[in-house]
Amino acid sequence: MTEAFERTVSDLRGIVGGGEVLTAQEDIIPYSFDGTAAMQAMPGCVVFARTSDQVAAVLKTANASKTPVVARGSGTGLSGGSLPVPNCIVLCLAKMNRILDVDPANLTILVEPGVTTLDAAEAASAAGLFYPPDPGSMKISTIAGNVAENSGGLRGLKYGITRNYVMGLEVILADGQMLWTGNKCVKDVAGYSLKDLFIGSEGTLGVITKVLLKLIPKPAAKKTMVATFARMDEAAQTVSDIIAAQIIPCTLEFLDRTTIRCVEDFAKVGLPLDCEALLLMETDGHAVAVADEAEQMEKLARKNGAMHIRIAKDDTEAARLATARRSAFSALARVAPTTILEDATVPRSELAKMIRFVAAVAEKYRLRIGTFGHMGDGNLHPTFLTDERNKDEMHRVEEAFKEIFDEAIRLGGTITGEHGVGIAKKSFLPKFAGDAQMRVMKELRRVLDPNGILNPGKIFD
Ligand SMILES: Cc1cc2nc3c(=O)[nH]c(=O)nc-3n(C[C@H](O)[C@H](O)[C@H](O)COP(=O)(O)OP(=O)(O)OC[C@H]3O[C@@H](n4cnc5c(N)ncnc54)[C@H](O)[C@@H]3O)c2cc1C
Repeated sequence: MTEAFERTVSDLRGIVGGGEVLTAQEDIIPYSFDGTAAMQAMPGCVVFARTSDQVAAVLKTANASKTPVVARGSGTGLSGGSLPVPNCIVLCLAKMNRILDVDPANLTILVEPGVTTLDAAEAASAAGLFYPPDPGSMKISTIAGNVAENSGGLRGLKYGITRNYVMGLEVILADGQMLWTGNKCVKDVAGYSLKDLFIGSEGTLGVITKVLLKLIPKPAAKKTMVATFARMDEAAQTVSDIIAAQIIPCTLEFLDRTTIRCVEDFAKVGLPLDCEALLLMETDGHAVAVADEAEQMEKLARKNGAMHIRIAKDDTEAARLATARRSAFSALARVAPTTILEDATVPRSELAKMIRFVAAVAEKYRLRIGTFGHMGDGNLHPTFLTDERNKDEMHRVEEAFKEIFDEAIRLGGTITGEHGVGIAKKSFLPKFAGDAQMRVMKELRRVLDPNGILNPGKIFD
């Protein structure tokens, strides 16, 4: 540790208290990586803040000494967003985890940044309301992490993603200034919508310290079913037919053969193994509409050749069927030492083409890829089951990635539908975004963080 960094650490101890600053190697190792495979870097120290004022003081100190700061929630990110840079301060917000206000009159909830997605959803539910965004990581991911990544979830098709529920944010800027943007008003067009700038900014424009979220009424009823198909095209056609019938299910997820086998091995849901594709379909809303939509969805699945259809009889069975999808990543992660999960996304109409392309790439590069994802959103998760110690295989993985992202862009899609750019995808961003967008993004960043202390090296260099 340099003398200058030691002085900074001493200042940080003065702000948050000695027990909230970690510097010993064994203590900071858990903060040297996130959910992204094959990436690790040691921070200089880890600081836990408990109040917005402490966050402001930490940033003021860091800015004065030009020390990089990497904001961190639960570290479940899948693009290396909260990966430290050497000698940085990891500013962990997980201990700022209070639910500050539930307001049924305005249908809002105000939370601190470290509240988990599940805790926010349960607080809403206790008030008879509904917070729909449900990333697969919701038991541990934090609300600020969701906002910083603009996370999606299984209900994105019908209910939208995190951005659609953020009504206001308290943000601490790089120089320690506190800013509040947004409010409880349903309509507000006064000035630029700065909150939208911070959503998805991956910790590079400011540190989020409070989040005001929109809530909606709870759907009265829900039906869950699983259908399996001998061919992926049949599943894709079922999805197209459901949308064409003007049914917007709250969940429309798929698993491919590799993923189905891994899930069954792991979660023992009782899935049939003689199929190439599985669709998890859920519809919610008024009980009469739900019954009608479920019947239509079942008919469409049968018309397209569904081999087995299982309709949940009650909530317990529904949760069990949903486990098939919710446990997909964990199930795949057991199979190989390194699991690299991607989120190439294409317009829905191109989904079947993209799934076939991923399978062809797997064959070309002799790789094992399990694919699952949000079929209704066109959001695929091709998951590479590999071993980072095998240099030759890792090289083939990189080449396969390039082809998959190029194809996604060619089909009118994007390099990331929900996991963010971070480090993992920054080399692909210029091609996707183009010169003008890259320039504006970099200029915005320079205005808000002239010393470049906030999460440097993420999204772009
Ligand atoms: C099993 C599994 C399933 C997942 N499923 C989904 C899914 O369905 N949909 C989806 O979108 N993602 C999913 N993810 C990815 C991940 O959970 C999300 O990106 C999540 O929002 C990250 O939250 P976090 O608290 O872990 O943030 P972290 O990983 O700690 O941080 C993520 C980013 O947010 C920034 N950040 C964190 N806190 C703040 C703050 N207070 N202010 C400013 N910036 C901040 C960090 O600097 C970093 O850039 C999954 C991950 C796993 C491991």
